[in-house]
Amino acid sequence: MYNAKAYSAASVTAPLASTTIPRREPTPRDVQIEILFCGVCHSDLHTLRDEWSSIMPTTYPCVPGHEIVGRVTRVGSAVTGFKPGDLVGVGCMVDADHTCPSCQANVEQFCPDVTFTYNAPDKHLGGVTYGGYSESIVVDEKFVLRVPANLDLAGVAPLLCAGITTWSPMRRWGDLTGKKVGVVGLGGLGHMGVKFARAFGARVVVFTTSPNKKDDALRLGAHEVIVSTDADQMHQHAGSFDFILDTISAEHDINAYLGMLGLDGNLTLVGAPEKPYAVSAFALLFGRKSLSGSLIGGIRETQEMLDFCGEHNITADVEVIPIQRVNEAYDRLVRSDVKYRFSIDMASLKG
Ligand SMILES: [Zn+2]
Ligand SMILES: [Zn+2]
Repeated sequence: MYNAKAYSAASVTAPLASTTIPRREPTPRDVQIEILFCGVCHSDLHTLRDEWSSIMPTTYPCVPGHEIVGRVTRVGSAVTGFKPGDLVGVGCMVDADHTCPSCQANVEQFCPDVTFTYNAPDKHLGGVTYGGYSESIVVDEKFVLRVPANLDLAGVAPLLCAGITTWSPMRRWGDLTGKKVGVVGLGGLGHMGVKFARAFGARVVVFTTSPNKKDDALRLGAHEVIVSTDADQMHQHAGSFDFILDTISAEHDINAYLGMLGLDGNLTLVGAPEKPYAVSAFALLFGRKSLSGSLIGGIRETQEMLDFCGEHNITADVEVIPIQRVNEAYDRLVRSDVKYRFSIDMASLKG
C-alpha cells in the first residue's frame, strides 16, 4: 500500500478538499497509472451529495472521478497489454467477476459483481474504491483502455463516461448512415451524441429548449436544430426520425419525442430523471415504436470508441481547470454553465 494525493469530501455537506488516500501496490494483473486528466461528470456531484442514496448510498470520505486519462508508471508481472509510458484511460468500472453472462457478453457494466471506480466496495483494501480526483490509481489490466496518442488528452477524459454512454446505444441501433437521428439536450452527453452521430453519417438534429444553443449545435456537427418548445417546429418533424437519443436528466414530456419517431423508430434514454415517466401506450403502438435505456458501455466497445475517436480526431469540448477550482466547477455544473465538460488538470494536484 502507498499514499496518493487526492481530493475528497468528508461528508454530504463538506466541499472537496486536499487529502491523501491509500492505493494498493500493483498485483501481478494490475496497472499503476499516473493520472493526467479527470473529467467532471454529473454522477460525481450526485454521489458526493448522496442524491442516489436509495440505490447507491455514499460512503465518506468520497473521492469521485471516472473519466480518467493517464500514463502507465508500473505494471504487474502478468500484465501483457501495457508497459510503463503508455497512454491509458479508465472509465466507470475497475473490476467485475469475469464469468457471468454479462461479462461473457462483454457488457461488464451489467455484471452483478461489477466494481465501479468510486464509492463501491474495494475487494483489495476494504472500504470503498476511490476515483480519479487523485494523482494515481491502480487498476486490473482488463479494465484499462488504450488511448490514441494523437488526441488532446484533456478532451479524451470525458470520452470514458460521456463518450461511451452516447456511443453504445447508437452503435447498438445499427448503421446510422443516412438515417435521421435526434439528440435531445446539448450538454456533456448531448454534445458527444452529436459528434458521433455526425461521424456515423447520420442526418443530425438537436432538440433544445434554448434557441441560443443553435450556433453551437451546428458547429458541433448538427445539420438542424429544433426548439422543442415551438409547436410548429415540432409538428413539421413529427414521425420523421429513425432514432432519438434522449440525454435529459430533468423531468420532461417523453411522448412529444416518441411522436417524432417514424415506423419502427427507437428512442433511447441515457438520462435519469428522479420521477418515473408517463408513457402513452398509443405513442408506441402507432408506428411500432420502441423505448429503450442504456448505461455506459462494456470495455470492448469502449476501446472501439477510443480507436474510432483516434481515427476521426474526436474529443469532448472541455474547459480545463486546476483541481483547486473543482467546488466552483460543481456550482457551475448545476447551472449547466460549461461547454461542455470540465476536465481537471491533475498536474495542479502536485503544486
Ligand atoms: Zn459519468
Ligand atoms: Zn460478471
